[in-house]
Parts: sequence; structure tokens; C-alpha cells
Amino acid sequence: MPNGKPAGVACIHLLNDFKCAIFNKPERPNFCGSLKPNLEMCGDEKHGNAREYAIAWLSNLEHLTKPNH
Ligand code: SF4
Repeated sequence: MPNGKPAGVACIHLLNDFKCAIFNKPERPNFCGSLKPNLEMCGDEKHGNAREYAIAWLSNLEHLTKPNH
């Protein structure tokens, strides 16, 4: 996204099936490729629904790093 992705807004490259439309393409931001999944961010079967866990974790991170928080 030209001016960065605002907190709480889905990336414009996120497809309906939650895959990245530009995965493995040069225009994919370096940050996306450098972000390594880990247990703290992604959760596991002990956390119940892993997707809901990850969305909650990332939403909290966005909230905590939002300008003028
Ligand atoms: S990997 Fe990066 S470019 Fe692709 S959908 Fe996720 S945030 Fe967007």
C-alpha cells in the first residue's frame, strides 16, 4: 500500500481466502517476507482457534503501536 497500511485496515493484497495476491512477487513488501511466524503470534492447538488467536494478537499489537495511542 503506497502510504503504508493503517491499523485496523486489511491489506489491499489480501484475498478472500486469506492468501496474499502478490506472494512471491517482487512488489511484495520486504517486511512481509521477513516476518517469521512464531508461537506467540500464531498460537497453537492449545489456544483453540488459531486464526482467531492470531487476529486478536495482531489487533492488540496494532492498537498498541497506533500513533497517538
Ligand atoms: S503478505 Fe503482505 S502484501 Fe501480502 S497480504 Fe499480507 S500484508 Fe499484504
